[in-house]
Amino acid sequence: MPFKLYNSLTRTEEAFAPSDGDTVRMYSCGPTVYNYVHIGNLRTFAFQDVLRRHLRHSGWRLRHVMNITDVEDKIIAAAFAAGVPIGEYTAQYVEAFFEDCAQLRLERPEVVPAATDHIPQMIGLVQRIAKAGHAYEVDGSTYFRISGLPSYGKLSRLDSRSVLVGARVDSDEYGKDDARDFVLWKASRKGEPSWPSPFGPGRPGWHLECSAMAMEYLGEAFDIHTGGVDLQFPHHENEIAQSECATGKPFARFWVHAEHLLVDGKKMSKSDGNFYTLRDLLDRGHSPDAIRYLLVATPYRKQLNFTFDGLRAAAASIERLRNFARRLEDGCRLPDGEDASAAAARARVQFQDSLDDDLNTAGALGAVFEYVRAANSAMDSGTFGPGNAAEGLALLGDFDRIFDVMRPLSAVRVARGEVERLVGERAAARRARNFALADRIRDGLAARGVVLRDGPSGTQWHYSE
Ligand code: AMP
Ligand code: ZN
Repeated sequence: MPFKLYNSLTRTEEAFAPSDGDTVRMYSCGPTVYNYVHIGNLRTFAFQDVLRRHLRHSGWRLRHVMNITDVEDKIIAAAFAAGVPIGEYTAQYVEAFFEDCAQLRLERPEVVPAATDHIPQMIGLVQRIAKAGHAYEVDGSTYFRISGLPSYGKLSRLDSRSVLVGARVDSDEYGKDDARDFVLWKASRKGEPSWPSPFGPGRPGWHLECSAMAMEYLGEAFDIHTGGVDLQFPHHENEIAQSECATGKPFARFWVHAEHLLVDGKKMSKSDGNFYTLRDLLDRGHSPDAIRYLLVATPYRKQLNFTFDGLRAAAASIERLRNFARRLEDGCRLPDGEDASAAAARARVQFQDSLDDDLNTAGALGAVFEYVRAANSAMDSGTFGPGNAAEGLALLGDFDRIFDVMRPLSAVRVARGEVERLVGERAAARRARNFALADRIRDGLAARGVVLRDGPSGTQWHYSE
C-alpha cells in the first residue's frame, strides 16, 4: 500500500513519494522562542515526529528542516521588558525547547536554522521579489504586493473579502496599498534590533524568514511543508506567494497541517492563558511518555481535547503494553499456536496500513491492542509458545519505532541552567514565605531526578543516581 498523505493544497489524500525517489525534503515551521512552548505546540511537533519516523521506516532518506524564529515582535517586546539583549533572551528558550523535545523523544530534524543566522539570504529573497515587481516601500518598510497575483489564496481558499476581514493590520502598517499586503522587511524603531540592507536598516518579516530558510536548505521546490492549522493563513499563504513570485516554481508539493489541541473546547494558546507547558505537567508528576502517547494517539487531523483523565488513560495504556512485553520476554513454554501467529501477522499488516493511511495512529494502536487481547487469550488457553512470543515482540518493535514509549522516558536530564533557574525561583518563594510554591518546585525537581539540599550557605543540588 502506498503512503497516502492529506494535502491541504489539493484538499485530497494523495499517494506520497519524494520527487527524486530517494530523499524526502521537508520543512516545518518551528517555535517562536519568547517563552516555553505549550503542549498544544508540542502536539504539532509530535505529529511531525510521527511523520518523520514513518517516512524513514517507509525506506526513504530524510532531510528535514525546522527553523527557530528568534527575531519577531513578541520576542523584541519580551526581551525589552526583561531588560536583556534579544540573543540572550532567546537562548534560554531555545535550550528549553530542545530539552522539551528530548523529554518527548522528538527526533531532532537534520537542520535547525535560526532566523538571525540567515539575514543575507532573506535580503536576497526580498531583492528577487522586488525584481519580479512585487515589492514596494512605505516609510522605510518593504511590503509584498498581492494585487496582480491571481493565485493568491490557493492554499486557504479565502476570498479577498474574508482575507481583508481576517487580516491583522498593524497600526504602523497604515501606508500599505492593500490591507492584504504583508511586510517583507520592517523598518526598525529606535532601540530595536536591526540589520543593514539595500532597503534601509530593519529586520525580516516572519513569513520571509521561513521562505528563505526553506530555500537555503531544501532548494526552491521541495516535497512537504508542515505546521499547525492556524499557520495556513496568512503565514503559509504568504510563504507561497512570495516564494513562487521570486522563483516562478511551485514551492512545496504537499502542505500538511496538524489540528489543534484544545482545553475545554477552546484552542490552547498563550494569549488566552489556557495553556500547560510540558514542565507544568511534569511538575504535577505526569510522565513524559504518557504525554507523548496522548499527543500522538489521536490522528493529527482530528482536534485533541486535553484532559487529565485522558493523560491518566494514556499512562495506563503504556503500562498495559509494558506488562505484556515483560510477559513475552519472560518466555512462554507452551506449544506455539497458529491462531496467535495469524493474529500477529494480521496486526503487523494493519499497523502498517493504518499509518500509510494518512498516519492513522488510532487505527495503528487499535491493531496493537486487538493483538494483545488475542495473545492473552491464547496464553490462557495454552496455545502460545516461544515462536508466538517472538512474533509479538516484533509487532511491539514496529509499534515502538513510531510511538517510542516502551522505555521510560524520565532518563532525560533537566538542563543545568533550568535547575539553577528553578532553585532561584524556589529561594525567592521561600523569602516571600510562599512555602507551598517552594515545596512544589522542590517536588517537581525531585520527580525529574534532581535532589535539593538546603544548608547554611544556600541550596546545593545534584542529579539523583
Ligand atoms: P508558534 O511558536 O506560536 O509559532 O507555534 C509553533 C507551532 O505550534 C505552530 O506550528 C502552531 O501552528 C502550533 N500550535 C499553536 N497552538 C497550537 C495548539 N493549540 N494545538 C496544536 N498546535 C498548535
Ligand atoms: Zn513558517
